[in-house]
Amino acid sequence: MSAHTSADLILQGGTLITMNPAQPRAEAMAIRDGLIQAVGSQEQVMACQGPTTQVVDLAGHTLLPGFIDAHGHFSNALMVVDWANIQRPPAGPVTDIASLQQVLRDHLTAHPLATGQWMVGYGYDPDGLADGRGLDRADIDPITPDNPVMLIHNSNHGAVLNSKALELVGYDAATPDPAGGVIVRRAGSQEPAGLVMETAFIPLFVQMPKPSQEALLERFAAAQALYTCKGITTIQEGATTAADLTMLQRGASEGRLLVDVVSLPLVLEVPKLLSERFPDGHHHSLELPEAARDAFGTYHNRFKLQGIKLLLDGSPQGKTAFWSEPLLTGGPNGEANWRGQPIVPPEELNKAVATLSRQGIQLFAHCNGDAAIAMMIEAVRKAGLQADQDHRTVIIHSQFMAPGQLEEYVELGLHPSFFTVHAFFYGDVHLANLGADRCSRLSPMASAMRLGLHCSNHNDFSVTPIEPMRMVQTAMQRRSRSGTVLGEGERVSAEQALMALTLEAAWQLREETSKGSLEVGKRADLVVLDQDPTTVNPDDLNGIEVIATIKDGACVHGSF
Ligand SMILES: [Zn+2]
Repeated sequence: MSAHTSADLILQGGTLITMNPAQPRAEAMAIRDGLIQAVGSQEQVMACQGPTTQVVDLAGHTLLPGFIDAHGHFSNALMVVDWANIQRPPAGPVTDIASLQQVLRDHLTAHPLATGQWMVGYGYDPDGLADGRGLDRADIDPITPDNPVMLIHNSNHGAVLNSKALELVGYDAATPDPAGGVIVRRAGSQEPAGLVMETAFIPLFVQMPKPSQEALLERFAAAQALYTCKGITTIQEGATTAADLTMLQRGASEGRLLVDVVSLPLVLEVPKLLSERFPDGHHHSLELPEAARDAFGTYHNRFKLQGIKLLLDGSPQGKTAFWSEPLLTGGPNGEANWRGQPIVPPEELNKAVATLSRQGIQLFAHCNGDAAIAMMIEAVRKAGLQADQDHRTVIIHSQFMAPGQLEEYVELGLHPSFFTVHAFFYGDVHLANLGADRCSRLSPMASAMRLGLHCSNHNDFSVTPIEPMRMVQTAMQRRSRSGTVLGEGERVSAEQALMALTLEAAWQLREETSKGSLEVGKRADLVVLDQDPTTVNPDDLNGIEVIATIKDGACVHGSF
């Protein structure tokens, strides 16, 4: 073959899992101009070799389509990269107070602080410390005594402050607890120990100095590296504010994106976005000018808007999801007969769904509890949406589904993005709150796939760590930290679990013709793993290493 038509790169000598049902495995693949030129037998693909073709031996490793982040928050990644990870295993390295202190010291070396600058850690979990006690500020004061330190509790509703931070916010022995909040005291005294919760914490967090747009742009490389080192080639920003959209579009236009980022502006931010960008119009409703409608669905400098994000309820582990039946353990403050509540009144939701879908805008609705899911189903029904209209409305989380709701998804053309890692991280908490029967339908992937629904799976980063292999493992095993299986009948195969990270995730973002499988003409967005996730013992999935991540034919992480 001549240099004009020959491949830039040929990959061979490994296992190729194509995610193309018509040709599930292949021996080799050729890439030209960032696209897949050929995929098939060694002989077929080597026919694309020319004088300048680079031929790479995969050395027995496994090649897959790059993973697609079906739901998560890239804006949070831009914050977290500058924070110390003080989570317990497996999400972080902290097992006791000494290891926590070491993490902070290492973080300080890697991220030196200016005078007065705050040091922030995230994921503090006193239950994960082997010392049998929580932190006192004296444990962290020596690390950087002249800088305020805030170690955010894994509930995101509190933090441990060092003495400098307590001094800055004015909490001392004479400060009473604010209404609805707690300043934890040292035993036998009124001296603050360090931990502050709820209304003693939230105003501090809101008022903390925010990084400038320039500082956030500087973090683009580090934030994307969190994803590319896990094999992700398409990232989601799944709740975009007006300010973040401006920042993300600027980062894209400056050429800072190595991989694709898909943004879903929050419905509540739409009027603000319209008044900023279309100052001559009247934007009291969700009626979009033509130019705004046309802004969806196309990448510019690796960034695209794909749809609008609706929020119907809160989080199940925080007991703020909206269920049809009460929790077994009461509400967050011990309320009896607690079943959570919706974030949005039904009339407002119905209007938003009808108005936006009439204009052809794809909807992504966050629904955790079955009552929130029922509200969305009702809104879609009232808006007159039909399955055959290919509207691809995605119900993000779809975590606690009631019997019959999946059949309504089929009828109306709704598709779930599941959150199976909940089975591991929060499975024991959910069992206590909801009981085994309701937990058996947590993220019911097997049933949904049997009904022909397009199912993706997500980490909702930074809610849980970016771990594609844990998504595969939890979709296959549905096992909690303590080892209890939640809904044995909803377990899926490795191939099915991988489909939810590749082709089905691409479908939900309307990119199935260009991404999600190894097929001729698709983008060469790829990941090379050191082991085959379809043959490894499922218990060992999390040990699989990413050798290389490739975006449009170029290495963005690792090497061959
Ligand atoms: Zn989310």
